[in-house]
Amino acid sequence: MSAAGTQVIPPRRGAGFRLAAGQLLTVIDPEGRQVADLLAYNAADVREVISSGRTLDYAETIRLTTGHLLYSNRSRPMLEIVEDSVGRHDFLLTPCSYDTFHHFYPDLPPHRGCFGNLAEALAPFGVEEDAIPVAFNCFMNVPVDGTTGRLEVLPPTSVAGDRIVLRARMDLVIGLTACSAPASNGGSFKPIHYRIDDPS
Ligand SMILES: [Zn+2]
Repeated sequence: MSAAGTQVIPPRRGAGFRLAAGQLLTVIDPEGRQVADLLAYNAADVREVISSGRTLDYAETIRLTTGHLLYSNRSRPMLEIVEDSVGRHDFLLTPCSYDTFHHFYPDLPPHRGCFGNLAEALAPFGVEEDAIPVAFNCFMNVPVDGTTGRLEVLPPTSVAGDRIVLRARMDLVIGLTACSAPASNGGSFKPIHYRIDDPS
């Protein structure tokens, strides 16, 4: 059963919302080739936050997909990936920001990026800017050369309608964006859809 129907995050924007333990969060790329940065905080204590380092360490891979758990800085499972039609996401890079734009795109008008969007969306839940870590970047395509360690940011491999579904393992506050960085999104900015479903 859908708790609130499909929600739309417009291009280059973000959203903050609660996700109760057991509920399913479906993140949908409605047009294809669009990244969505995802953050999770313990709703009862936002100092507990999703951790790339813990998650990659326990998963023993940087290729997270169906069956993997996303852990907190306190080594507790926050989310479980239960469905994934893409199989290509990133958990290495931090949300794009005003400073990212200065670094990579000095000739483009700067944008506050996912970082600024997440900071605004999460402020009502008591999350401060400095508590924003590496996000789980749904659909972001960051191949890493296993020999040299060099990484690239390529367009997502996702096509229209692709999705990833995550089940909450505790009561969470979620931050979610439609990413604003040109390279991450194949050069154009599209919306992201999401849906919250109660456990069946
Ligand atoms: Zn971004």
